[in-house]
Amino acid sequence: MPKLCKAGVQLREQIDDDYPERDRKSDGWIADTRHSTRKSDHNPDPKSGIVRAIDIDTDLAAHKEEVFDLVEKIRKCAKRGDKRIAYIIHNNRICSPTLNWKWRKYRGPNPHISHFHCSFTTLGDDNGKPYRDWETDRKSTRLNSSH
Ligand SMILES: [Zn+2]
Repeated sequence: MPKLCKAGVQLREQIDDDYPERDRKSDGWIADTRHSTRKSDHNPDPKSGIVRAIDIDTDLAAHKEEVFDLVEKIRKCAKRGDKRIAYIIHNNRICSPTLNWKWRKYRGPNPHISHFHCSFTTLGDDNGKPYRDWETDRKSTRLNSSH
């Protein structure tokens, strides 16, 4: 049975916590039959059945620009050393360890406007620990609102 890696489950949960009203139409994780012939992290690992990628709808039911902040949070998390994240594609750009998480032009067939893509390494297969920067953000929001 195919299943999403724990790092992916956790990331999606944290996004859902922050944006409970978000649109999920362009969400996804497992490749549909149309895509499964292509090499993609959305295809289950032939041995373990684990899928190491998620797509998140860019409509967060917030500010249009908010998704850029969210993607930036994930990127920073990866840059700071969370090795569960393999690469991110959003808005014609891709970032990965290749240029130390600097954005570069993405030339794939899908520009990733309606959703962004996040791939995970095998380190995320069984590691569903919370992504750290979110906690910091929540704490600062809480502090601000108490004043
Ligand atoms: Zn994808």
